[in-house]
Amino acid sequence: MRITAPLVAAFALTLSCPLLQAQHAHEHGVAHLQIAVEGGTVEASFDLPGHDLLGFEHAPATEAEKAAVTAAGARLKDAAAILRLSPEAKCTVAEASFESETPEAGAAHVDFVAHYRFSCAAPAALAGFTTGLFLAFPSIGELSVQSQAPQGVREQELKASQPEYRF
Ligand SMILES: [Zn+2]
Repeated sequence: MRITAPLVAAFALTLSCPLLQAQHAHEHGVAHLQIAVEGGTVEASFDLPGHDLLGFEHAPATEAEKAAVTAAGARLKDAAAILRLSPEAKCTVAEASFESETPEAGAAHVDFVAHYRFSCAAPAALAGFTTGLFLAFPSIGELSVQSQAPQGVREQELKASQPEYRF
């Protein structure tokens, strides 16, 4: 697994950058996932409210806040725990990275975007996934999923009580 950017550096970098366009309304407790299966490759992109990852949405200042950023980064790095694909498909993590985005100019909110890529040796066995997002970040109550796979294009909301998704 390769981590492309340390979380603290990404956070500091993006807070000083021009705004990026958010794809969704920023709502605490609600995360979004876009996942695409093509051949033996799975690409997944999570959009996560910073408040649910860190408990705050400003640049980390205190030691406790810096520790919260480090802890959130460690959980996000564990791609295989965040997204548990069908074991029969024999998928391995090819890439995991994350960055922060400010939804609006001057906004007091921060989103994190986590990108994962998996390579699957037996993609025909890829039926779906179970997400560990609710265990890693308990303040997230809902994950809105959009998928594109050989089975078709579909959407579904997942919750802690129902963390399984079928393509
Ligand atoms: Zn917020």
